[in-house]
Amino acid sequence: MSDLRMPPPPVIEPDPSAARAPGLTGQCSGCQRMTHRYGAGGRPLCQWCMAPVAERYGSSVRYVSTR
Ligand SMILES: [Zn+2]
Repeated sequence: MSDLRMPPPPVIEPDPSAARAPGLTGQCSGCQRMTHRYGAGGRPLCQWCMAPVAERYGSSVRYVSTR
């Protein structure tokens, strides 16, 4: 999470978190970028889509539930 000041790369580039979690990736629910999927049924967000959510709900937020 050190490069949030950088503009997001093209969505064809996977989120860095995806590389750290082989086999646990899914499409970001915001921009469809491949990213780390936090558990079954989770709605993953890449770090760039996560940033505004984390600002609102706190840094403990890991995914957005649709329920
Ligand atoms: Zn995203």
